Amino acid sequence: MKAMSEPNHSASQDTGATRVEVDQNLCQSAGYCVRTAPQIFAFDADDIVALRQGDQLTSGPVDVPEDQFKLADRAAWDCPAAAITLTPPA
Ligand code: SF4
Repeated sequence: MKAMSEPNHSASQDTGATRVEVDQNLCQSAGYCVRTAPQIFAFDADDIVALRQGDQLTSGPVDVPEDQFKLADRAAWDCPAAAITLTPPA
């Protein structure tokens, strides 16, 4: 098991929106992100976290609305597996 660590913040790809992705191979299904930001994260059929994109679930990346950025950032910080990556806008 990987200890708590800082979330992955990588360089922007200049999309104009914060992008979020999840490494489903790292996810431990702890559910912190789902509890923190259920409008962004959800468990898939295998109980691994995925990202909401309309009616679909994906590992991302997906764009996060500006008003949900703090929730996504909090979820990334809280993730015990450092499985959530945020790419901020330029
Ligand atoms: S907080 Fe991290 S380990 Fe827990 S469910 Fe979300 S992505 Fe998976």
